[in-house]
Amino acid sequence: MTPQPNTSVAGLSDPGLTRSQNEDALLIEPPLYAVADGMGGHRAGEIASREALTALLANAPRETDAKALARAVRAANRAVMESAAKSRTRTGMGTTLTAAMVDGTHVLVAHVGDSRAYLLHGGRLTRITEDHSMVADLVRQGAITEEDARFHPQRSVITRALGSDPDMVADVFEVHGEPGDRLLLATDGLTGMLPDDYITELLEPTRTPEEAAARLVDAANRAGGYDNITVIVVDLDDTPASRHAPSRGSSAMGRLHAARMLWVVAALALVLVTGWGVYSYAQSRAYLISENGYVTVYRGIPGSFAGLSLAWRVQQTDVPVEALDVPQQTRLRDGIAFAHLSDALMRIDTLRAESAPASSTVGPGVMTTPTVGP
Ligand code: MN
Repeated sequence: MTPQPNTSVAGLSDPGLTRSQNEDALLIEPPLYAVADGMGGHRAGEIASREALTALLANAPRETDAKALARAVRAANRAVMESAAKSRTRTGMGTTLTAAMVDGTHVLVAHVGDSRAYLLHGGRLTRITEDHSMVADLVRQGAITEEDARFHPQRSVITRALGSDPDMVADVFEVHGEPGDRLLLATDGLTGMLPDDYITELLEPTRTPEEAAARLVDAANRAGGYDNITVIVVDLDDTPASRHAPSRGSSAMGRLHAARMLWVVAALALVLVTGWGVYSYAQSRAYLISENGYVTVYRGIPGSFAGLSLAWRVQQTDVPVEALDVPQQTRLRDGIAFAHLSDALMRIDTLRAESAPASSTVGPGVMTTPTVGP
């Protein structure tokens, strides 16, 4: 890729104050810039964000080509999915990806998840991307405000991510900025901690990108630093390569003070409850199933989705399935689902009582379910 000597850029990634690991990753390979926020236990989040960026770089186009950039994001999605399939500890891992290609003042952004791209133009900050998250859906429906969204208990539930859905679609945006405009890419460790007004202040164009990036990270940490924080600040400038069109912006007599944004692949806006939504749902559920002749507790949901298992074994109990009545045995063969793990654990106590031989129960009369002897 051709470096853009006139483009001044800085990026920072910080674990924040409460997380021991940094699952965010960033990529600065002019003219390509990207941030990713990984998710998944056993350090799988770190693997997901890094593999996404590696695959993005390997597949990125040389020029600002929207379709080619979208293809590179799809390649990154496949790379994360393939990596997830390699190890059980990576099951369900995923990552956001917000990538920008900059050619002078022409910017392409490809986006999946709740990291964001912004453009600072004439002192005003405009959000280029739309979050793929549950709270963003609620804001769009008018159910909650932006401010509510930053503090909502479900704020980290995202509805689209890399790593779970082979048919994942990235939003692609095209922005025509002007020299002096500033592009910001950031993970939710920044945007969840600071309101847009404050981000605008900190991006103040008299500061260098390095200073602006450092102040953004500092401010997010001072606000609590509850999450990993990653930012990239890119100053847009005219380069010989850019097709700057003075007839458009400057002749428009004060009409245009916001940047013109053209929605290229206009978001193919099927708001799908993607695999990631299913994953989040699965994480909150539990079920009991017969395994090796004993009642076994799982977090997740029985069966598989698009070939992926969404279940995590919690424990095998000492309750023999054979000691239960036939209807229970039948249900346990397919799995008995519960809304919460605690409900599943409570049911085990009931099943244990039912499975106990008559002699060890409290006494005659309390036995309401006949046991089936071996
Ligand atoms: Mn995050």
